[in-house]
Amino acid sequence: MAITDRFCPKCGQPSEREGLCSRCRAESVQWLSCDGRVQSVHCPACDARKVGSVWTDTGRDRESIAYDLVRSAVHIHPDVKQADVRIRIIDLTHNRSRAEVSVTGRLYGQRVEGSCETEIAWLKEQCDRCSRISGSYYEGVVQVRAEGRHPSPFEIQTAAAFADEAESALQTGGERLSFISDMTETRDGLDIVVGSQHIGLLIAQKVTAELGGRYTTHPKLVGEKNGKQLYRITYSVRLPRFQKRDVIRWKGRYAEVVQVEPHGLRVFDFAENAIRSVREDEVEKLVGNARQAEDAMVAYSDRDMIGIIDPVTSKTVESKANADYRPQAGQHVRILRDGDFIVILR
Ligand SMILES: [Zn+2]
Ligand SMILES: [Zn+2]
Repeated sequence: MAITDRFCPKCGQPSEREGLCSRCRAESVQWLSCDGRVQSVHCPACDARKVGSVWTDTGRDRESIAYDLVRSAVHIHPDVKQADVRIRIIDLTHNRSRAEVSVTGRLYGQRVEGSCETEIAWLKEQCDRCSRISGSYYEGVVQVRAEGRHPSPFEIQTAAAFADEAESALQTGGERLSFISDMTETRDGLDIVVGSQHIGLLIAQKVTAELGGRYTTHPKLVGEKNGKQLYRITYSVRLPRFQKRDVIRWKGRYAEVVQVEPHGLRVFDFAENAIRSVREDEVEKLVGNARQAEDAMVAYSDRDMIGIIDPVTSKTVESKANADYRPQAGQHVRILRDGDFIVILR
């Protein structure tokens, strides 16, 4: 072993380098510190979190938020190697927690161990979205109406479901202000009040793509904010006069609508078992919609006639048979009524 003339000026022990020995050096460094207080701001209504000035929906629980907050408050000297940080969180009240931090590591070849404490303040603040909703702020209304009729319960339900889907998709994608603040069934249809123009447009597009019809937009200037003009937009959705699965009478025959097209209908003609195109002005009558059909039993079936037991009166009513479709006695069928006449669906 080489004889060294280097000694630690503090403890007098041989030092492997000029100046303090490793142990004294490690002891002289303040290698661990914790901020006394950290805070988390969240919205009591929707649990969104505010970081800086930005609100986000994290979906994270209090414990994992606390852990990250405390970790960011722990400062360890960069010369410390293999640092192992342990955090224990104790909830003192609903608004306050205490974190006990203990750290071990190696500093200049010496094992070091230290601890510190941080307090977590859980602050509540109403978020941007909730304050808009509670302040009845909105940027548009989607009005779902139908041409010459009231939208059916199916159409109302479908439109409402599309609106909900659009809201969750946008919210998941981080568009916090694309919310639905109100959805009301009115005498004329469905009104969907929306927090952003983007969600209004998406709902109008989706409803018309799936249920047919078209929409028009009607902006209205409602004021000015920071030199920017503020508009509210009404998305006026007009569903077509006929909808899928409507059963119509046309040229004395019955048919079910399979597709609504811009200038007419594609229908399944019961008498001929075939798809036909029909202009809207050729339709003599809307009999009903297959979704509202009743269940009935076939009493007998012969070459020309089918006897159906009317589920309401229990009397047997005759309906014309069709060469390609002849349900047998005892079989259940779906029916709609055209006055006294019973229409058998396929
Ligand atoms: Zn020393
Ligand atoms: Zn909120």
